[in-house]
Amino acid sequence: MFSDLKNKRVLITGSTAGVGLAAAQAFARQGAKVGLNGSRPESAVSATLAGLRAEGFDVAYFQADLTQSTACQQLIEAFVSHFGGIDVLVNNAGGLGGRNGLENIDDDFYDHVMNLNARSALMTTKFAIPHLRAAANKSGATSAVISTGSIAAREGGGPGAGIYAASKAWLHDIHRNWVKEFTADHIRFNIVSPGTIDTAFHEDKPQEVRDRIASTIAMGRFGRSEEVAPSFLFLASHACSGYITGQIIDVNGGQMAP
Ligand code: NAD
Repeated sequence: MFSDLKNKRVLITGSTAGVGLAAAQAFARQGAKVGLNGSRPESAVSATLAGLRAEGFDVAYFQADLTQSTACQQLIEAFVSHFGGIDVLVNNAGGLGGRNGLENIDDDFYDHVMNLNARSALMTTKFAIPHLRAAANKSGATSAVISTGSIAAREGGGPGAGIYAASKAWLHDIHRNWVKEFTADHIRFNIVSPGTIDTAFHEDKPQEVRDRIASTIAMGRFGRSEEVAPSFLFLASHACSGYITGQIIDVNGGQMAP
């Protein structure tokens, strides 16, 4: 179904676990060349990489702490040097970054959460644009930027997660601006917005909190990373979504119908 993804060069930030790793596996299964990224050294993810390579996948790992703009630039340079260009960028790196109510927020906390979720995607996209433009010109198809948003962007986030939610709303919105700036360059921008997905993101929650959250989801359970991954494939595939840009796909089991 996504056969045009074969041999596409796909960079997925924050892909050593959870949603990003499931997306990396899904792209690799389609025959894409996949760059994985995390902030930890390659030795910390060697088992994950060995598992992917054992399946015959063409993957490479690029360590970069994307809270730093220079690391975003170095990531793009390293990926392009390895694979020769970029067809698809998935801005998935992100996270809660801690919980703090408004009266406990200080500059360091604000900077950390915004750097993790907003600056990381902004700067990685900035440095990827020339390569995405070149890839679209060469292929005659569109290139794609897909960012991982959040249900929190739409409903404000849980207790202490206001800046996280706002950072994801920021991401949802800046995509709308990028559509205006780069559609003439044949680059599409779309968001995958997960609901509550069972990853390390929720590891701080006791079972009763998980049960309470699950009861707010129409499907009655958390989602799985593997259930989010196919939406990235759809939005990356020119054949499937070449006329779709500036949109948000909510993958949330009916937790919210925006
Ligand atoms: P996760 O913690 O399993 O994955 C986070 C990934 O980001 C990891 O691969 C980690 O290595 C990477 N990462 C963290 N800090 C980084 C940094 N400074 N530089 C580079 N990489 C970094 O959690 P997840 O749930 O898979 O989260 C993936 C994305 O999905 C995040 O953007 C998150 O905000 C978003 N999201 C998750 C949920 C959920 O319920 N799990 C809901 C909505 C949105």
